[in-house]
Amino acid sequence: MRTITHWIAGKPWERPVERAGEVFDPATGKVSAKVAFASPAEVDAAVAAAKAALPGWADSSLARRARVMFAYRELLEQNKVEIARLLTSEHGKVASDALGEVNRGIEVVEFACGIPQLIKGEFSENVSTDVDSYSIRQPVGVVAGITPFNFPAMVPMWMYPIAIACGNTFVLKPSERDPSASNFCAELLRDAGLPEGVLNVVHGDKVAVDRILHHPDIAAVSFVGSTPIAKYIYETGTSHGKRVQALGGAKNHMVVLPDADMELAADAAIGAAYGSAGERCMAISVLVTVGDAADRLIPMLRERIRKLKVGPGQDPVSEMGPLVTKTHLERVRGLVDHGVNEGATLVEDGRNPKIQGGEHGFFLRPCLFDNVTPEMTIYKEEIFGPVLSVVRTPTYDDAVRLIHENQYANGVAIFTNDGGAARKFQHEIRVGMVGVNVPIPVPMAYFSFGGWKASLFGDTHVHGREGVHFYTRGKVVTSRWPDPRFRGVDLGFPQNK
Ligand code: NAD
Repeated sequence: MRTITHWIAGKPWERPVERAGEVFDPATGKVSAKVAFASPAEVDAAVAAAKAALPGWADSSLARRARVMFAYRELLEQNKVEIARLLTSEHGKVASDALGEVNRGIEVVEFACGIPQLIKGEFSENVSTDVDSYSIRQPVGVVAGITPFNFPAMVPMWMYPIAIACGNTFVLKPSERDPSASNFCAELLRDAGLPEGVLNVVHGDKVAVDRILHHPDIAAVSFVGSTPIAKYIYETGTSHGKRVQALGGAKNHMVVLPDADMELAADAAIGAAYGSAGERCMAISVLVTVGDAADRLIPMLRERIRKLKVGPGQDPVSEMGPLVTKTHLERVRGLVDHGVNEGATLVEDGRNPKIQGGEHGFFLRPCLFDNVTPEMTIYKEEIFGPVLSVVRTPTYDDAVRLIHENQYANGVAIFTNDGGAARKFQHEIRVGMVGVNVPIPVPMAYFSFGGWKASLFGDTHVHGREGVHFYTRGKVVTSRWPDPRFRGVDLGFPQNK
């Protein structure tokens, strides 16, 4: 059986594998590969390679760094179907969705191509007589990225292209559940001309992550994953002196006002709730209907759910694939059972799917709950599966209060034809990313992505300007060239004349 191993100093790590995990094809339920789990010593080897590569790379010209990114972008374009195939085989998402993921990752690489412009400082002449000041941004050093299973190509690409373009070297610890895409992309970056050691990939679990968090040579950590782990990463990393940005879980609400175009809202809710089997941090998991909106919306949702084609991601007719692992499937199914026991109305029950050829795959058909209340577990917990809950609220103000009382604040959307209501909503809602008649408002690469409250630990969001900021440190230089006119000792505080 194939073993996926680490990528250190520009090549696969060849030492014997001591600990390994299993990677599944979620459509068949079969083990497709083994993945090495890094020991602390193997993490140390990756960090040492990144540290050795740092001086040369940090001092390389902006033109060279941009050129590597341009070449990488071309290689990604040429290989994107192959990367998407890898994603489908390990994550389970359907081919079109996998390709969309790669395209969104490429957009971050395109952003990183602009590094000469992005990293520019400021200059002021004559801040005092004959004294000039300028600001520069410099790389922070060796940076680590720890990423989740749900976007195995895109989320790492939120991090390493920008970090590397800024002159840092990088150690990536991708999800152990779908590890192949990271190695493939590391190979492409080598082919694009990236020197060995600038990007390293270590696979594994908590052992690898803990070594990263404690390693004295790692200056900064970017994390994306669930909230309890994000909090742990932030607290442990910062207590070891590292700069940390840790993006956590989500419970995204979509408010539907009674004046909305219900057909449009129904289409949007179906795509946002069940796309990628609900395994998106920006998936809509709660529909907050105001007034009588639910009575009109629910029949439309049911009609659409029944037509959805669920099947292996490799099958071009499938619109929704399986969940990532059996453990995750069982957790999601258990939460649906819980919702029924707590008294929510399960109007579409996807718990017994009949998938031809996928009898052993990790499939669940879309589930739709009505009459969900804020005390229920299915409302409070992030489900991360194809389960949509409808919470009925009498007024707009009740909808806003509900959202504000939720611990998460990643994404939110409002559907309405009332421009005034939409404007009021985008202004007052306390959530990081807001959609107006857009169900999944993911910012483009040149804006920054991230939530508020329990969806983010740290101060900076990823990519865009905040990404460049996170991966660089500011410095201000004040200079005066010697001039005989200024001879003589002066103990006074400088007066700016
Ligand atoms: P996860 O938290 O289980 O794992 C994320 C990473 O942390 C993986 O690399 C994993 O190996 C590592 N990890 C897991 N347990 C650990 C532990 N005990 N100690 C140290 N490291 C550990 O998340 P997941 O299941 O892979 O991904 C789904 C979660 O990610 C969801 O909660 C989703 O909302 C979230 N997510 C958030 C965003 C965002 O932008 N906010 C984006 C994508 C996914």
